[in-house]
Amino acid sequence: MSRILLADADAFFVAVARKEDPEGAGRAPLLIVGGRPGSRGVVCSASYETRAFGVRSAMSITLALKLCPDALCVPVPRQACTDSSGAIKRVLERFTPAVEGASIDEWYLDLSGTEALYQHESLEATARRIRAAVLDETGMALSIGGGPNKLVAKLAAERAKPTKAPEAGGVHIVPDDGVSDFMATLALSDIPGIGPKLTAKLHDLGLDRVPDVLQHDDATLARWLDAKTAAWLRARVGGNSVSAVEPHAPAKQVSREETFDRDVSEVTKVESELRRLCAKVSADLRGDGLTARTVTVKYRTNDWTTRTAGRTLREGIESDRAVTDVALELFRKLRVAQRKPARLIGVALSNFASSRDAEQLTMFAPSTPAVEVPRDRDLSRALDRVREKFGDEAIGSGPKRERPLGEKGARRPR
Ligand SMILES: [Mg+2]
Repeated sequence: MSRILLADADAFFVAVARKEDPEGAGRAPLLIVGGRPGSRGVVCSASYETRAFGVRSAMSITLALKLCPDALCVPVPRQACTDSSGAIKRVLERFTPAVEGASIDEWYLDLSGTEALYQHESLEATARRIRAAVLDETGMALSIGGGPNKLVAKLAAERAKPTKAPEAGGVHIVPDDGVSDFMATLALSDIPGIGPKLTAKLHDLGLDRVPDVLQHDDATLARWLDAKTAAWLRARVGGNSVSAVEPHAPAKQVSREETFDRDVSEVTKVESELRRLCAKVSADLRGDGLTARTVTVKYRTNDWTTRTAGRTLREGIESDRAVTDVALELFRKLRVAQRKPARLIGVALSNFASSRDAEQLTMFAPSTPAVEVPRDRDLSRALDRVREKFGDEAIGSGPKRERPLGEKGARRPR
């Protein structure tokens, strides 16, 4: 079962403006971010205090000031918003490599397969730790919704908002067996994809809330709407969605994996294959002139269960040693969870970092020991030159071995 979270920053632009404090925004409870009075701008974000006056996002600044004349209006602090968004995302990526930015202040996280890494901690407990880490390190408050898919996570995040449920502490998780009960509490217009036009049409049919739809069978709905819309609506009100969390940050990944031609129970053998794949994949990476921040290990056992574990580092790495260290650490965690004989082992590198990112991150976290030091990079580059001259097998980390069956190298655009 998938474990998906949606993390949504609370009044993001207002929070950033308060942190930056242009013109005293940090002290103004009535704060509108979007433009100056008299400008033709629209409200980008309004503090919760101004919302009590009826101020809403996307409303003109002029109208907003009619409703709430005492509000302070400031322009959007664009650079600070971009920086703050990036800082939040980097904290989220420490918890899972699968983070998809849905907008500047919203991220989907896929925590499926991390159960063992987090010692079977509940999704709610993980969400609370994530929320605390982001608040502590960036000063930004999040509302986090969770559930078995993106749709339910998104709806649950609305339920976690401080305006809706101050007692929720910013987290609302819908358990797998609680999806229908949760959906039954919703108005149809709450559901993403059901816009004003469809809402009005459904209203004319006497359908305003999720339970209203559930009273009717498929044939009736198909007669009222068209068959395609009816089927879509049925899936929607059931809280079903199949779209996957897709991290956009990596432009691509480089990966290497090996399918064994028999079940391999000796852990040392699997580890030595993983070391070999790490050497190859990091050479691929250096060949492309890149460094990677995310290392993901894939491990399939003889019962065809495939598990992956990933780690996102603060800085990009490129050396054999650093990639191998991180991959072995991930493999050992996966191995603790699943001790059956191995059928496949693989490693992927993604989340390619620019050197500018790396510098900024170093400033954020001067206390964290580096996973890779300059000497590692020099050594790997020297080995590349030897390989280039004498071939791939010129440098081995052990006795010469046969080429395994089924090894695959993949570079796929993402
Ligand atoms: Mg938000």
